[in-house]
Order: sequence, then structure tokens, then C-alpha cells
Amino acid sequence: MRLEKLREAIAAEGLDGLLVTQPENRRYLSGFTGSAGVLLITPDFALIATDFRYFEQVGRECPQFELVKIEGKFTEVLPEMLADAGVKRLGFESEHLTVAQYEEWQRAAKGVEWVPTKGLVEKIRMVKTPEEVEAIRKAVALADEAFAHICECIHPGMTEKEAAWELEVYMRTHGAQKLAFDIIVASGPNGAMPHAKATDKPIEEGEPIVMDLGCVVNGYCSDLTRTIVLGSPDERFREIYEIVLRAQEEAERRIKAGISGREADAIARQVIDEAGYGDKFGHNLGHGVGLAVHEKPAVGRLSEDTLEAGCIITVEPGIYIPGWGGIRIEDMVLVKEEGTEVLTQAPKRWEI
Ligand code: ZN
Ligand code: ZN
Repeated sequence: MRLEKLREAIAAEGLDGLLVTQPENRRYLSGFTGSAGVLLITPDFALIATDFRYFEQVGRECPQFELVKIEGKFTEVLPEMLADAGVKRLGFESEHLTVAQYEEWQRAAKGVEWVPTKGLVEKIRMVKTPEEVEAIRKAVALADEAFAHICECIHPGMTEKEAAWELEVYMRTHGAQKLAFDIIVASGPNGAMPHAKATDKPIEEGEPIVMDLGCVVNGYCSDLTRTIVLGSPDERFREIYEIVLRAQEEAERRIKAGISGREADAIARQVIDEAGYGDKFGHNLGHGVGLAVHEKPAVGRLSEDTLEAGCIITVEPGIYIPGWGGIRIEDMVLVKEEGTEVLTQAPKRWEI
């Protein structure tokens, strides 16, 4: 099914075949979970070229693919692969091939026209199959559990790094194969940076604490942010928290298949604009999540994507005040024909 969709896209681009080098795209199409290999997909062939370390694994994971053994350099097998598959006009993933590789490969495969492409596989990955949705639910549930766990043990004096480690250990010992990204724990003024790193700063009572975490389960990612306070927050916190929450709820209520990533972003942005904090929400509302933690569709002011039923995206408005801190609340939602299903279950109360 995935290969059929890609073959349609290859034909629509007027290509004889596509060389796939992006790791998640490679896994998505072939099932191969190894970390090195190149796919060649044509109307009639599906080939995977990889080296000795993975010969056996390919046999197990990629029954639909024919293995091309790389014994030396990839450029030694490439010309024959292309000739055997009858490829004259070859698409390649221009966003996922270094200039050095491109030059070397092109030199090796003379007589073939190399055509840059963008996002052919990513476009297909955007809409999740029911099996993928189930896989993502597991990763989301584990992030939810980790958040519940940190709420049990976080306390004043604990450093941001210690809290991040606590979250990491929880997820790694409860089924995550790895983290989806470096966990963010940003307290007080540190939270004013949307992508802060956890530091040695001790967490204090009364300040906003932004925690952004996610894990990978069976290849699929989750992404969750909650903002909490130990003790009681100031008035500003109560005011801003309500605005961010309202922006998120409004977006989750009105997003549905057929609207653009830009329109989805605008729903939340309007709430924040009207509350007077428009210039304090400097990032996109969200992004697609799947095999990669950031993938299509883009959900932001510059997005050119349209949301379809089966897309899984984050909805993560935030307001950031330099010197004070930030508040962000992030859910993952499944886009449906008539609305969304919020996959994230972590509670949205700020008090512990
Ligand atoms: Zn996040
Ligand atoms: Zn995110």
C-alpha cells in the first residue's frame, strides 16, 4: 500500500524511480530498522542496498525488498542497480543527501538524469494507518505516565536536570526504546526560552515549570508539554495559563480535516492575540508526529499543508515573558473528518 502510493507519486513526477536515503522514509517504506541503507523504488522493483551488518536483518524485516549487497562502496553497486531497474530519470531526496554524496553518486552513475525531489514520502507518511495510530497511542500513554510520575516526586530544590533524568529513567524503564528528543525542564525565567535545556538550577516554589517530554515506542514518537507550579503562583501565571489553555481548547475543538495548517494555527493565535500576548507566542502551533517527532504536516503561519483525516499533530500554544518564564501546554491529537480526538490524557491542572 505504501509502495503503491509512492509509485503513483513517482509516476506523477515523471520519474523512473526514486532513491530513498532519509532514515524514517526508508523504515516507513521497507520496514528496515537498521541505520544504513539506500532504497531504490521503481514501478516494478523495490531494492534495498546495505552492507554486511544488515544482510540477515533485511531478510527478516523487508520481505518485499530485494537485497543488493554492498561489499565495498555504494557507488560500486549503484550503476548496476539503476541499469537493471531501467532507470533513466532518477529522483533523489534533495533534503536528505549531502552535496558530497550527491556529487560522488552522480559521477558513478553517468547517463542517468538526477532529479531533485522534496517530501514525496513525507507526504504519504502524513496520514497514519490504523496500525500507526495504535503505535503512537502507546508512546503517548507512556509520556502521560511519566508526567504523572514526575508530579509525584518533583519538589522544591530538585534541579531541572534531576527532574529531566527522573522523566528519562521512567520512560526508559517502562518500554521506551529511547527519548524522542532531549527533555526540557525549564523553571522560572528559563521557561521564557521555548527550547530551553534542563540546567542545574534548583526548582523553586511559585515559579512556572515547563516540562516537554516524549519517547519512542516501536519506532513511533510522542510529544507532551505541561506547565505546573509548586506552591502557589503569582497573578500573572493564573491569567496567562487560562489564555494558553483557552487557545489550545479552541484549536482542538475547531481543527478538522480539510483546514490548512495555517488556519489551524490562526485559531489559537487569535485567542492569544486578543488577550494582548500575540507577540509572546513566537512559534508554530504544532507539527505532525510519527516515526519522526517533527514531520509533516506543518501547523503554523507559513504552513502550506492541508490537514487530512488520519494526521496526528501537536497543538501547543505558548506564551513566553522574558525574565519571568513561560507557559506552554501541548497535546497530540488525531485529526478526523469532523474534529479531533485528543490522544494525550495528562491532566491540565497546574497545581500538583
Ligand atoms: Zn514538545
Ligand atoms: Zn512539539
